[in-house]
Amino acid sequence: METSTAERPEEEVAASSFTKSLLLGEIHEEMVFPWPEPDAGEQQRVRELCARARAIGERIDHREVEEERWIGDDVIRELGDAGLCGLYVDERYGGQGLSQTGYARVFETFAQIDGTLSIILGVHQSIGYKGIVLFGSDEQKDRFLPDLVAGRKLAGFALTEPMAGSDAHNLQSRAVRQPDGSWVLNGEKRYIGNGSKGDVFTAFARAEVDGTDRHIALILEKGMEGFEVGERFDTMGLRGNDLRQLRFSDVRVPAENVLGEPGDGFRIAMSVLNNGRIGLGTGTVGAAKKLIDLTIDHVTERRQFGQPLADFELVEEKVGWMTSYLFGLESMAYLTCGLVDRGVEDYSLESAVCKVAGTEFLWYAANRSLQLAGGEGYMKDRPWEKILRNIRIFPIFEGANDVMRAFIALSAMKPVGERLSGLDQIGLGDPIGSIGLLVDYAASRVKREVRPERITPAHPELERHADAVADQVKDLAAATESLIRRHKKDVMLRQLDQKRLADAIADVYAQVAVLSRVSSIFTDIGFEPAGQERYIADTFCSRAAARVRGRLAQIENNDDERILAIAKLAYKRGEYGYALFD
Ligand SMILES: Cc1cc2nc3c(=O)[nH]c(=O)nc-3n(C[C@H](O)[C@H](O)[C@H](O)COP(=O)(O)OP(=O)(O)OC[C@H]3O[C@@H](n4cnc5c(N)ncnc54)[C@H](O)[C@@H]3O)c2cc1C
Repeated sequence: METSTAERPEEEVAASSFTKSLLLGEIHEEMVFPWPEPDAGEQQRVRELCARARAIGERIDHREVEEERWIGDDVIRELGDAGLCGLYVDERYGGQGLSQTGYARVFETFAQIDGTLSIILGVHQSIGYKGIVLFGSDEQKDRFLPDLVAGRKLAGFALTEPMAGSDAHNLQSRAVRQPDGSWVLNGEKRYIGNGSKGDVFTAFARAEVDGTDRHIALILEKGMEGFEVGERFDTMGLRGNDLRQLRFSDVRVPAENVLGEPGDGFRIAMSVLNNGRIGLGTGTVGAAKKLIDLTIDHVTERRQFGQPLADFELVEEKVGWMTSYLFGLESMAYLTCGLVDRGVEDYSLESAVCKVAGTEFLWYAANRSLQLAGGEGYMKDRPWEKILRNIRIFPIFEGANDVMRAFIALSAMKPVGERLSGLDQIGLGDPIGSIGLLVDYAASRVKREVRPERITPAHPELERHADAVADQVKDLAAATESLIRRHKKDVMLRQLDQKRLADAIADVYAQVAVLSRVSSIFTDIGFEPAGQERYIADTFCSRAAARVRGRLAQIENNDDERILAIAKLAYKRGEYGYALFD
């Protein structure tokens, strides 16, 4: 006999991660229902901030930004004056005090205006000074936040190095503690956004702490002796982003600029990136909305074969796909913001899922949109070419999607591995490069108290999909268990199965998000008036369920060995090299 959420004692319903619990076969519905929404006051503030962002955006000549390769110091100050450089920061430091949801909504608007604008502001607040907000002391917040929030200073995030990209744990910069408590930093960073424009950088280095080789997070300030901003990178897109090399030669960093505890650097970097990935996920929502608008304008105006392009089935299919997929993605991104706002401890998987799904959807959507624009889409004076150049980096930075998929699958598997009796020796947390370490970092023990087998708060009209999701959760849990039993520790090496699992997790999570959102729409405006949302939810959930079934089936039945063997043969040949007319 099931008990409803309301009947369960508070401590019984708590779980640390919604998605990790899914692979244990548990649906912690209390974390995702009701659909999260900021209060009316915050919604109004968000509307005002979006309007201010649009007004500033209209005055920016985006082609000039590409040519000048900078948005303009005056624009940064203007954004600061408009309250757009400190959206989630407490009002005490001059910020807007928005929730994660409110922040994401304004961020979407930046992405709709222009990729470069959203990257500069994203580097600044999503990752640049986020560490100070999350881990800074009161003194550090007082010292740095007011100027950063006002746009008088810009922030950057310096993690990547020539030998440490995806494998960020392997960074080589080193900080050595001095007798007076300060640190001396040496090393080099590359691909650092807001490079020569930044005044404050959260930087990461190796450091010996209590005799162990660990990481440290340091707040670097422009002008510190030995801190040199190097060459600018000439990039394919986001050309207004000042991407630089940074070099540190005996930079003395005072003890009061250490962020958090020495030794906690990697955890700090990963926490900041977790947060940044949500911003990227919701940013892709904004960019995709713009693409859909562009596409609709074009296909409804342009006529061929005596009719608007819009009326051809293959055109409708593309627009229908974009719209319904975006509805799912948007739901997932904002459900994740809601998890943060509800104080859920661990949203590392959900933010990674939003980043991977969002950035790939945006790329495929842009490709389809350009296809429909025809030759016009290829012209430099039309928006598509810049959009395509700008967004290509999204699936690579803030965690390459291949690495993120492994991270999602392995983090979700870890609690399952721990649960399986007699398989303790699997040791899924053992590091394999930084992915294992990423998993270790994120795999806080999942609390397990309840096992609802259905999604009870979904609106009765959505029961068919709610039941289907519950079945998929069972299948997901069974597939995970079977993978771990079959491959034991080697499951860490099976990236193709990890990808299938990660994509299935994303699709289950997206369906839950759509059910939560549409249930709340039905409650708010009634079932009949919400006909379009119902139609989209039906379509999205049916398609996502089919993808989940397909991916889980491929775990059992695939030609992985063949395709991997072909790659190994290609490596051996050192070229394609198959003779034709030779
Ligand atoms: C425009 C731009 C802005 C950036 N901004 C910043 C910034 O502000 N701060 C900062 O610190 N960094 C920044 N970066 C760096 C960015 O985060 C890295 O480029 C990214 O992490 C990938 O590292 P890498 O380039 O060394 O690629 P690599 O780590 O060499 O990876 C290359 C590819 O190999 C594959 N791959 C790698 N590892 C695995 C694996 N374990 N399993 C399967 N496949 C794998 C993936 O397909 C990956 O895309 C920026 C980069 C660019 C281009």
